[in-house]
Amino acid sequence: MIELTVFFIISYIIHGLGVTVGYHRLLSHRTFKCAKFVEYFFVFAGYLAFEGSPIWWTAIHRAHHRHVDTPLDPHSPRYGLWHSYMGWLFELKYPDHINPAEQCKDLINDPIYKFFEQGGNMQRMNACNFIINLGVRAIIWAFFGWQYALASLLAGAAVLQIPLMLNVACHIPKLGYKNFATKDDGVNVWWVGILGLGEGWHNNHHAYPGSARNGMRLFEVDLSYAVIKAMKKLGWVGWINHGPKDISLARKEWNKKFVLQESIERGKHYLDNVAKDVAKDLDMVANQTKEKALTRV
Ligand SMILES: [Zn+2]
Ligand SMILES: [Zn+2]
Repeated sequence: MIELTVFFIISYIIHGLGVTVGYHRLLSHRTFKCAKFVEYFFVFAGYLAFEGSPIWWTAIHRAHHRHVDTPLDPHSPRYGLWHSYMGWLFELKYPDHINPAEQCKDLINDPIYKFFEQGGNMQRMNACNFIINLGVRAIIWAFFGWQYALASLLAGAAVLQIPLMLNVACHIPKLGYKNFATKDDGVNVWWVGILGLGEGWHNNHHAYPGSARNGMRLFEVDLSYAVIKAMKKLGWVGWINHGPKDISLARKEWNKKFVLQESIERGKHYLDNVAKDVAKDLDMVANQTKEKALTRV
C-alpha cells in the first residue's frame, strides 16, 4: 500500500509538472527555452493527464489571457460557475475568435502536436487522448499489475483537476488576494498554489504571464519554477524569464498604473455624460426653433 501511495504521489507530480511546466509555462507562454526532448517529455506527461491536444490547450489558454474576464474569455466564472469549470470543455468547435492557425503558429507544424490535434475535430481529438491515456495504463497493467495502472489513472484524473479548479477558484476575487493591481479578477489562492504545483499564484501570473516564476513572495511556493531552475543547472534549459527583479517596486508600479487607469476611465465617463447633456440641449433648442418656425407660418 505504501509503495502504491508513493507511486501515486510521484505520478501526480510528474503529470502535474507536465501541465504546469509543459503545457502552460513552456507551450502557452514560452517563459523559457529548452531542448526538444525536454519539451516532449513534459508535454507528453501532461497529455497523459487527459489534457487533450496541446495546440487546442494553448489556443484556448492564450485566448483566456487576451480576453480575460470578458465575454470572449473561454472560461471566466463571471459568466457561470459550471461553464467556467467544465461546461466550456463540451464545445464542439473552436469559438469564432480562436484560430490556432493564427494564434499557435509556433506549434501548428509540429508533427506530434498536429497528430494530437486531429485536424481540429474536437471529438476525434478527445478520442485520441482517451485511447492513448488508456493504452499507456494498459501497458503499466501488463508490466506492473492493475494496482499500479489504477494508481496512474487516478493520478492523471486528479491532475486534470488542476487547471479546471484553477479556472474557477483563481478568478473569484473573494477566494484569494492580489499582489499586483491588475484589472482582471485573477487572484492568488494558497491551496491552489500547493495542489497546482505553483500555478495558484494566478494574480502574479496575469500580471507577468511571460515569467517562468509564478510564486513571487517568500511564502508563495512554486515547485514548477524550482524544477525549471534545476533543469537549467543540468543544462537542459537555456534562457529563463524570471519575471520582475524587485517585487515591491513592481507592486508600486502596478498601483500607479491602476490609479492612472481609474482616473482615465473616470475622465472618459465624465466626458461621455457631458457629451450626452450637450446633445440633449442641442435637440431641445432644435425642437424649439422648429416649433417657433411652425407657429410663425
Ligand atoms: Zn486566469
Ligand atoms: Zn497562463
